[in-house]
Amino acid sequence: MELAKAYNQLLQRVQAACKRVGRNTSDIRLVAVSKTVGTDIIRQAYELGIRDFGENRAQDLRDKAGLLPGDINWHFIGHLQTNKIKYVAPKAVLIHSLDSWELACAISDYCKKHNLTVQALMQVNTSGEVSKYGLPAEQAEEIFLRIYKELPNIRLRGLMTMAPLTEDKSVIRQTFRKLKQLQEKLDSQVPTGNADILSMGMTHDFEIAIEEGSTMIRIGTALFGTRRR
Ligand SMILES: *Cc1c(COP(=O)(O)O)cnc(C)c1O
Repeated sequence: MELAKAYNQLLQRVQAACKRVGRNTSDIRLVAVSKTVGTDIIRQAYELGIRDFGENRAQDLRDKAGLLPGDINWHFIGHLQTNKIKYVAPKAVLIHSLDSWELACAISDYCKKHNLTVQALMQVNTSGEVSKYGLPAEQAEEIFLRIYKELPNIRLRGLMTMAPLTEDKSVIRQTFRKLKQLQEKLDSQVPTGNADILSMGMTHDFEIAIEEGSTMIRIGTALFGTRRR
């Protein structure tokens, strides 16, 4: 499908989901997941007005950021290995995938050394078996607060999750609902508004995510079509 058409259809679905639950579309930020998508197509998306793109490989983020307009907001959404922090920390507006205390310490060390602050979300593993990454919900709270207190070069802004791969919509809905509850709990323990981002919802579940309070949806397939790798 043509990108412009796909984008319009996506916006309409976002709007419809917002309307069902009385939310405002301006409260939902769209991150176009451009992993495996070439810079020519990203440029087309840019020309349609999209400014937030998500990459899951550190070098791809660095390379694409170097080739594309400087006003793009790059989001890192993949598992981050400590030796690749250097590609991501200087370029990403938001790291969605902070998934361990060790990674947080490594990012913090890098940031201190380079006099940087990064914004990040803690990735919570709400599905157990499906995703290898993300902190179990039981640990997320403690580590979130510890990072908040001890690693000031990381500004934790909220939570991210990937819902389980299932056709059972009630399972997906419960997952998102639990993440929102955790986010509200954390937000109440730090200065208000600091942890207000909920990155949840992908092509197959973003409407449920919006109904359950998502503030950031990460969409690849619905915009760019099925990935080849
Ligand atoms: C690939 C990916 C997405 C986008 O998935 P689609 O189903 O193509 O919309 C979102 N979030 C993460 C973390 C991803 O890796």
